[in-house]
Parts: sequence; C-alpha cells; structure tokens
Amino acid sequence: MKYVSTRGTADLGRFSDVLLSGLAPDGGLAMPESIPTFTSTELETLRGLAYPDLAFRVMRPFIDDIPEADLKRLLHATYAPEVFHSKDITPLTPLGDSELFILELSNGPSLAFKDVAMQFLGHIFEYVLEARGEQLNILGATSGDTGSAAEYAMLGKARVNVFMLSPHGRMSAFQQAQMFSLAEPNIFNIALEGVFDDCQDLVKAVNADADFKARHDIGAVNSINWARVLAQAVYYFKAYFALNLAPGAQADFSVPSGNFGNVFAGYLAKSMGLPIGQLLVATNENDVLNEFFSTGVYHVRPAQRVAATSSPSMDIGKASNFERYLYLITGSDAPQTHGWWQDVGEGRPVDLRGSAHWDAVKASGLTSGRSTHADRLDTIRRVDRQYGRLIDPHTADGVLIGERHQRPGVPMVCLETALPAKFEETVQEAVGRVPKRPERFEGIEGLEKHFDVLPNDVDRLKAYVVEKLAGKG
Ligand SMILES: *Cc1c(COP(=O)(O)O)cnc(C)c1O
Repeated sequence: MKYVSTRGTADLGRFSDVLLSGLAPDGGLAMPESIPTFTSTELETLRGLAYPDLAFRVMRPFIDDIPEADLKRLLHATYAPEVFHSKDITPLTPLGDSELFILELSNGPSLAFKDVAMQFLGHIFEYVLEARGEQLNILGATSGDTGSAAEYAMLGKARVNVFMLSPHGRMSAFQQAQMFSLAEPNIFNIALEGVFDDCQDLVKAVNADADFKARHDIGAVNSINWARVLAQAVYYFKAYFALNLAPGAQADFSVPSGNFGNVFAGYLAKSMGLPIGQLLVATNENDVLNEFFSTGVYHVRPAQRVAATSSPSMDIGKASNFERYLYLITGSDAPQTHGWWQDVGEGRPVDLRGSAHWDAVKASGLTSGRSTHADRLDTIRRVDRQYGRLIDPHTADGVLIGERHQRPGVPMVCLETALPAKFEETVQEAVGRVPKRPERFEGIEGLEKHFDVLPNDVDRLKAYVVEKLAGKG
C-alpha cells in the first residue's frame, strides 16, 4: 500500500515510512492511496476473532511492508490481557436494556483510550527502528492523557526516549503522579514554567530547527500519526461483532471528540464496509466540530478562545485529523483539500454550504451534538442511578449525544474514552463520592516524583535534551 498526502501528489512511501514521519513535506497528512473494503462475506469471517487476530485482518491491507509473522507477533504482544486487564481487550457492556452500550477502551496502563493505539506504537516503533538501526527521541507536550499514554507505551523501549513537557503545577494530582512516578532511564518529564500552549509552542520551536531535529533524531507521537488512527479502527469492528447482530444490520456509535482521531477511525471502519449507521461527533463547549456538522462552516478557533472545561481532553479549537475526513469527502481531491487548508491557515472558514461536498458530508453518516458542564454532571448522575455505572466526564458527553440520537431497534455504542478515576473531581461533584481506582493506582500521589522544572525558553530545552542524551552515552 502506497501512502500519499492530503494536499498533493507527494509519494510518502509505505507504512514504515509514514510511521516515523510527521506532516508530509507539503504540510498535509498521510493517507493510504485507496481504502480496501471487506465484502459482506469477508466481514463474516472476522466475526468471533480474538482481538489481536481481528487487528491483523483489519490492519494488514494498510501494512504490507512488514512480514506477516512479525506483524502478528507484535499485535499479540500489544493486545494482551495483562496489558488491558481484560481478555476481550475492549469489552462491550450494555447499560440495562436501554440498547445503549459502553465500549470500554480505558482499561489499559494509563486509564484512557489512547493506550489502545499508543501501546501498538511502542511495539511497532521498536521493531522498525531496530530494522533500520535508528533511534527516536520523542518530544511532546501534554495536558494529561497523551503524555501518560505515550510514557507507558515507551517504557523500557531501548531505541526510544521520551521528553514530555507539561505545564508546571497545572495537571491534576493524579495525572501528574501517573507520569512523574515513572522512574525509567528513557523517560524525561519536564515541568515547564508556563501553560499548555507554551509547552506546545516550545515543541513547535524545536521542530522548526530542522538541523537540531535531524541531529538528535527528534520525532513525535501526536494524534495525526497514521498508525494511531489505523489501530483505533479495530475496536469499532470488535464492538460491532460483540453486538451479535444479523449480518448487514446497522449499529450507531457515539464518540467524545477533540482532535477527531477517534471518530475518524470510526469513519475509516465504515469506509472499509463495517455497517455503521450514525457516527456521532460529541463535543463539549468547544464546539467547532458541532458547528461544522450543523451549519456546514468550519471555523477554527485560536488557542486563547478555547475554554477550559470539565472534559479537558476535548478542549480543542482546531481538529487536526479533520483534514483527513474532508479529503475523503472530496473523493481524495488533494488540490481541493490544499485550498481549504490554505484558508484555514490564514484564518478563513471552510464553507461547504450548498455544495456537493456538503451533500457528501450528509451522506457520510456523521452528525454531532454539544454538551455543557451541567449536562455532563447530570449524565454522570443519571447513568449512575439508572444503570449503576460510573462514567467519566468525556464518556458522559458521548452518552448524552448518543441518547439524543438513538433510533428504535438500533444499538448505540458509546465509547468510554477514560475511566472516572482519572477525573475524580468532576465525578465527585456529580455523584458526591470519589470513584474507585484500579488497585495499582492506589496512593500513587505519595510516590517519589521524577521531573525537572525548566523555564519557558527554547534554548534551555534544547540544551536539556542534548545533556540528557549525552548522559545516556
Ligand atoms: C484524547 C481524548 C479524547 C479526544 O479524542 P480525539 O481522538 O482527539 O478526538 C476524548 N476523551 C479523552 C478522555 C481523551 O483522552
């Protein structure tokens, strides 16, 4: 399978090439040249497969430059019951007899759905780097979920180091402890004197120095990584088959969304032939995506206009993977996509009203909804009372939008993107009690913390990276 850019004709190589590169040279995102589809007969042969075997069948058409036996081995090592604390990896649980289901994606090491893809990245990075005799120094910025998922995924990986910036003193005590309690020679936690945007700006500034970047093998694990998107498509298949529907019958999915990576993976699954009816894009008060799906106008918001909400992992003003969706909507028209993103880059909206593209959006099955802090609290409380199940604030956004769009006789699968223990304050505000933590996280706030405080200064950050890498010899 060849990969191309959403914005041009550049040949980006094959899977292993796009795995290790960020944006395409023309600023676009990597996409497979075509999307292979399963016929309904082929789909039936996927029913009942164990998670790693299903992952192989779904991902193999996109990863044909790694020997079959090696890919199978990597997938079995990734999707192991010990790592995800469940033999199903992503179990599906009904909420009473409401025809609503919770797809549990958050039983992995960091208690958020990002583990599902990031754990695969850890294994596949190690494999490809080994084959090429290269190493990778991941530089990232996090306000919580991405950082801990990345660090847990890269633990003990010999060819990978992680330098993770977080805003000093601004993460929750639990999220901070998840990252800072790690005492591993390849993990470097940097508490930056600044806010999250400062962290992101510093990462961008380092990446803008092409010479430094090349000399020190600097890379990223951000949400535009194609391997992450692809790995996430698998659990839509897993959930669909767990519903045990008649062949061809539809299921709807509701997805708490921020950077559009998770819901785009659902669209990929649908494009591959999985009978998904509605694919709901659930947003919080930061509702650029809801605005698009209800009006046809996509208008990104600058960072200073993004509100801090009680579902913080969805606080975005610009959804990076959205470009992949619009590219597919145009029928892979790279010049069109390029034009739109030029507008976006210059602060102009993408306006599809009245166009054939808008008809294609309508036909794609994606719709959206928005919720507020009060909705979130109410949903957490209601789901707890009605079904005896505690959910986190992000999952609550998804459940609420799912309930609003439910169709009689069609199951609605709501993606659980984090465990309530990860966002205890809001959950406590809703139900008056602190959610239970998995035993392995009891008392982690009391563990010794490993981190360095740095000023908001790109030269100091570069010097730090150089010094730490030299120290490792
Ligand atoms: C990252 C994240 C999201 C948003 O997912 P996207 O793929 O960025 O749309 C939602 N909920 C939680 C808990 C997350 O960590």
